[in-house]
Amino acid sequence: MHNAPPEVLISEVGPRDGLQSIQATMPTAHKLRWIDALVAAGLREIEVGSFVPPRLLPQMADAPAVVQHALKHPGLTVMALVPNRRGAEAALASGVHKITLPVSASEAHSLANVRKTREQMLDELRAVHALRRDAVPGVAMEVGLSTAFGCTLQGAVDEDDVIRLAVACAEAGADEVGLSDTSGMAHPLQVRRLFTRLRAELGERAGAAHMHNTRGLGLANCLAAYDVGVRTFDASLGGLGGCPYAPGASGNVVTEDLVFMFEAMGVRTGVDMEQLIVAREPLKAGLPGEPVYGMTPEAGLPKGWLSNTTSAT
Ligand code: ZN
Repeated sequence: MHNAPPEVLISEVGPRDGLQSIQATMPTAHKLRWIDALVAAGLREIEVGSFVPPRLLPQMADAPAVVQHALKHPGLTVMALVPNRRGAEAALASGVHKITLPVSASEAHSLANVRKTREQMLDELRAVHALRRDAVPGVAMEVGLSTAFGCTLQGAVDEDDVIRLAVACAEAGADEVGLSDTSGMAHPLQVRRLFTRLRAELGERAGAAHMHNTRGLGLANCLAAYDVGVRTFDASLGGLGGCPYAPGASGNVVTEDLVFMFEAMGVRTGVDMEQLIVAREPLKAGLPGEPVYGMTPEAGLPKGWLSNTTSAT
């Protein structure tokens, strides 16, 4: 039973999304230990950094070294975020397996986040696609459509717009297009509706659910996405990456709680809960004083848990 392949892929985004969203910079040595602990827990895809100018994001200045280290883990998909062609060049040179580009569904967020219109981001996407096709065709390229469920700046985001943009991203060369609840505004019915439409339009190229827990609906939204066929979920250990608009709330869905939910349901994640909780130690050591979230780690695993899980047999 435990040799059966996992049914969902948990894509750990803490070392990029999480670390990028906080003020403190985790020293490189701690990042490497943290990534090793995540791999030991069974995570098979990790977004390890982003390739942006160090003056803009000093937290990510060591991305090439972190990628180099992560590549030593056999079977791990090493992923990096790239905002543009220049970032993609650096990321591809580093040897990553997968690059991910942020494209905003909201025009206001696009201008604020990358200082480009959505149309200009599509041009950037085409350029990045041409680059990887010519240089390293084996590298996968995915797009996460940010603010797909609402935008802090503009409010509601038209669902037809989201789907049109997702199709345009796929036509521009993205292998997968996922939907991100950047602002933590999504609710389960909306998640069902949008992912159902996305899958109808893109089929196998419909990508991950990237949910935030800003208003406490992160897990409910992941479950809604699962119910309509989504099988890849972004999450962050300890919910790292607090949302600046909601003090005291975690930003990204907490990996520990998401894995607990799926495993409790009998949906195999391939992740060992106990090892996952152990992986919080290098995270805390590397970011002293930073809040680390998670209901499951605080409550502990239920009695008899091990006998229920796939990793124990
Ligand atoms: Zn996020």
